[in-house]
Amino acid sequence: MSNLIVALQHAGGALWARMLPQYCFVCGENSAARVLCPDCESALPRLAAARCPVCAIDSPEGAVCGRCLASRPRYDAAHAAFPYAFPIREMVHAFKFDARFAVGRYLGQALPAALADGVFDCVVPAPLHPQRLAQRGFNQALLLAEPLARALRVPLLRDAIRKTRLVPTQAGLPLEARRRNLRGALQAQQRFDGLRVLVVDDVMTSGTTLDEIAATLKAAGAARVEALVVARTPSRHSG
Ligand SMILES: [Zn+2]
Ligand SMILES: [Zn+2]
Repeated sequence: MSNLIVALQHAGGALWARMLPQYCFVCGENSAARVLCPDCESALPRLAAARCPVCAIDSPEGAVCGRCLASRPRYDAAHAAFPYAFPIREMVHAFKFDARFAVGRYLGQALPAALADGVFDCVVPAPLHPQRLAQRGFNQALLLAEPLARALRVPLLRDAIRKTRLVPTQAGLPLEARRRNLRGALQAQQRFDGLRVLVVDDVMTSGTTLDEIAATLKAAGAARVEALVVARTPSRHSG
């Protein structure tokens, strides 16, 4: 899809939503111009209350999970709005791969409430390699980060981290291979001395990408790095 069409769709998303009848993303019933009808909205999956305070994976009694105990991630904490499960997974895909921006905005609206009480100095979207950006026409993390930064009233540093190397699709690779693939693939474009940074992305699975982003930010001086995503795989075995 051309960048122009994507830009027009994004800019005109609210207008289109008003002009066209809109049907619930999940059940297909008329939802009066809402992404989900009230029934499907109230049936959305919820994250378990007991999660690892570091990586946000399901964890009995909210204890630090085994993997974080064995090897502490470079980010300080991660937060998610939803588990990466039906229909959130399908909604993320529709946003990211079919440029369904209304769906993306809907998902993004859940981000502020997913944050604990943290205080942040800036918001940084997870970067997309320029080649991927050219193919897709937009960076989904940036589209999620823009309204979030406005809601938090902190600066959005849209190009503060760059992906300088195209990393092969990570899905299905063992953790060590994911880490190897990412090493040296990111570059900070500025200093972050003493800053508390909130990194935004659409999905967190193994957490390797966010870990590498956090390492890059801390090498550039960041005091604290937390991650916020729309969807988190709820267990080690789900993605
Ligand atoms: Zn519905
Ligand atoms: Zn953990």
